[in-house]
Formats: sequence, C-alpha cells, structure tokens
Amino acid sequence: MRTDVVVVGAGPAGLVLAWLLQRAGVATVVVESQRQDELGTAPKAGIVEHRTVQMLTAEGLGGTVLPFAAENRRCEFRTADESTVVDYAELTGGRPHYVFPQHELVARVAASFRDEGGTVLFEQRVTAVEQDAHEARVTTTGPAGPRELVADVVVGCDGAGSTVARSLEGAVARHDRRHPMRWLVISAAMPPLVDHTIYAAHPRGYAAHMRRLPEVTRLYLEVPGDQSPGDWPVPRLRDELERRLGVPGALAGVELPEVDVLDLRVRVTTPMQHGRVFLVGDAAHLVTPAGGKGMNLALGDAVELAHGLIERCGSRRDGARADAYSATRLPVIWRTEAFSDWFLRVISAPPGTADQRDGFGLGLREGWVTALQRDPLLRRWFAHAYAGVDPDPDAQA
Ligand SMILES: Cc1cc2nc3c(=O)[nH]c(=O)nc-3n(C[C@H](O)[C@H](O)[C@H](O)COP(=O)(O)OP(=O)(O)OC[C@H]3O[C@@H](n4cnc5c(N)ncnc54)[C@H](O)[C@@H]3O)c2cc1C
Repeated sequence: MRTDVVVVGAGPAGLVLAWLLQRAGVATVVVESQRQDELGTAPKAGIVEHRTVQMLTAEGLGGTVLPFAAENRRCEFRTADESTVVDYAELTGGRPHYVFPQHELVARVAASFRDEGGTVLFEQRVTAVEQDAHEARVTTTGPAGPRELVADVVVGCDGAGSTVARSLEGAVARHDRRHPMRWLVISAAMPPLVDHTIYAAHPRGYAAHMRRLPEVTRLYLEVPGDQSPGDWPVPRLRDELERRLGVPGALAGVELPEVDVLDLRVRVTTPMQHGRVFLVGDAAHLVTPAGGKGMNLALGDAVELAHGLIERCGSRRDGARADAYSATRLPVIWRTEAFSDWFLRVISAPPGTADQRDGFGLGLREGWVTALQRDPLLRRWFAHAYAGVDPDPDAQA
C-alpha cells in the first residue's frame, strides 16, 4: 500500500492529525493495533484546556464533531487544615476548562474521519519503521499476516511505548524521569460530590476528585511505587479516599468498577523528528496527569504538524513548516512540563520518602496552598497556566 502519510496510532493525536490531513486532500492511512471496539476504552484524560477548544473549533472540529459544553471553572486545594478554592475561569476573563472524556473524543473523531472516507487499519501493530532518501516504510503484523506500507512521511502517534520513537534511537535524545510513587486511577459510579475539581494535598498522600460524566466521577489516590490495585480492596480504598478528600461517609455504597494504576513518568524527546519520521503526543513526550496537560499537548502537536504536512505534501510542496515542527513545539512542551512538575510538587510528596515523613514536604505543600490563597499574582499566573489561556500582558491581577 502506498500513500502520502502513514499515521501510527488512533489516539487523540493520530486521529486529529489524520482528520485534518484527509480534509486537506493529503492521502493518509491510520494504522492501529487495537480492535475498533477496544479503541479508547482505558480511563484517561477528561480536562481540556481553553486554548485547545479554541484551536479545535478554529480547525472545524469543535461544534458538531466535538460539542464542548460542560465547563469546569473552579478547583479546590485541601490540606489537612486549609481549603482554598480558586475560581480560575474568573481570573482568566471567563475562560474555563471543558470536561470531555478522551474515549468520547476518540470515538467521535474516528467516526467523522471514516465518514469523510478516511482509512483506519485496525488490529495492525507496527513492528518496524525504516526510511531512506526516497520513502519511508512501515511493517505491520495483524490477523492477516505481515504487511508493508510505503509513504512519503510516517508519523508516530503511538503513545508512551512508541515503536516509531524506538526506530529513531541514536538519531534523537530521550530525556526521562520516573517518580517513586504511583496513582490509582478510579472511575466511581456516582455524580460528582461538588461541581469542581478537588486536589487533596493530605499528610497521608495525594487524592483527587474530578468531574467526568454526569454519573461517573474520576478519583485518584497516590500510593507507594510497589503497590497495585490488589493491595487496595474497595472498603480500604473508600475509607482512604474519604479521609484524604475530607468527605467522611460520602463514598459509602458507591461502586468503584474500574481501578487502574499509573506510574508517574515524564519524558521529552529532542528533536521530535528525523528525516521522514515525526513524533507526536505521548510518543514524543510524557507528562504526569498533574494539571491535565498530556492530551492538550498531543492535540497541539497534531494541529501544528498537520499544517506542516499539508504544506509539504499538498500543492505547495513547501517543507519549511514541517521542518520547523520540533523547534516550534518544544518551547511549549518544556513550559508545560515545568508547570506540571510544579503542580505535582504542590499536591504530592512521594510516599515513604523523607519529604513525606519529616513534615518538610508537607510544610512546602501547605506553603504553596496558602500562597495561592493569599497572593493574587500567583493565583493569576496559576489560573492562566492551568486553564491554558495566554495571559493578557496589560491586564491587572
Ligand atoms: C489516568 C490519566 C489521566 C489523564 N488525564 C488527562 C487530562 O485530564 N488532560 C490531559 O490533557 N491529558 C490527560 N492525560 C494524558 C492523555 O491521556 C495522553 O496524553 C493522551 O492519551 C496522548 O494521546 P496520544 O494520541 O499521543 O497517545 P495515546 O492516547 O496513547 O494513543 C496511542 C495509540 O497508538 C496505538 N498504538 C500503540 N502502539 C502501536 C503500534 N505499535 N502500532 C499501531 N498502533 C499502536 C495505541 O493502541 C493507541 O490507540 C491522562 C492520562 C492518564 C493515563
């Protein structure tokens, strides 16, 4: 099979990229290892930045394909003794987050892509990517045996364990870190307890409460790096969540049908391209869920590269924007990594480390929470970075 662009991975990044290329008339094939009915079933993102919604709407994906309606305007930081509610939408001139579960976004963009005549090859795992001066080649395996696709460009949108990124080893550098704690990711079958996000920076460890769907609420519980969901039977999980979130009895009888575990890793690959091969989203960089940034970054990459590839593969045959893709995106990515790293330190101290045991880490967290309470300049900076709004340099705090 020969095409202009092969997109590896039908996550948010791959599908949005493919949708934009297809609409512009660039021949594109998406290759996805999962079955169609498995796509986007793992619990993942739900918080979408204001700038992401503006960007997707400008590209024609807002409205009918992705009807962003549910707003999230406030978040609350709880320590053992203090509670600070930040009305970040008010601080950004009325610009909130939107709550839109990732699996819903993936399902809707996939359906729209196929309606427009786009091809997704499901159950095709990419095993190798090669390139030379003339073309790039992707080898896949699937139920019908191995297959080869030939393209002008291959884009790795294949997530954290990217095979496409591995094919660039030696040509790009990977900067990695792993935090010593894990988060249990819990989908609770209940409406949200309040209409905003709660971040509990508790002495026993971090916990959080986030809106997802009217009858589904996302909860997080920080646990030591050697623990797994098996160490947390439901009654223990409910007790600990209630204690850290400061909501005694609120989870009594609530079903917790899905409990997943998440290792907290961060990574940036530099540059995010080599020759005919480009990396987008989690395949290029990882950020912990602190601050809700990963999918937003992935979508920002996808839109920027789509414009570059439309100029390169379309009638203009101009590769300048695609060549500059990595240089354009990396400053945004590092800025976002820096925000998320700071945010993680505000809400969490690694369990079992001196930071948590000796009270110093807790003191630092309480220091940040009270600073957010009392310092309007810090609150304003936080509101813009968190909601994904570029600050107006002339506005007053
Ligand atoms: C619990 C949790 C909560 C999160 N919350 C938020 C949030 O609120 N806001 C936010 O912005 N981000 C959040 N994130 C991060 C966000 O989910 C990711 O950044 C996002 O999924 C990245 O999208 P992607 O398209 O780059 O990769 P992925 O979503 O990982 O998609 C990759 C796709 O590639 C496919 N694939 C992989 N390997 C191959 C192969 N060899 N061949 C073919 N196909 C392959 C996979 O099956 C998958 O469909 C969260 C993440 C987690 C885990």
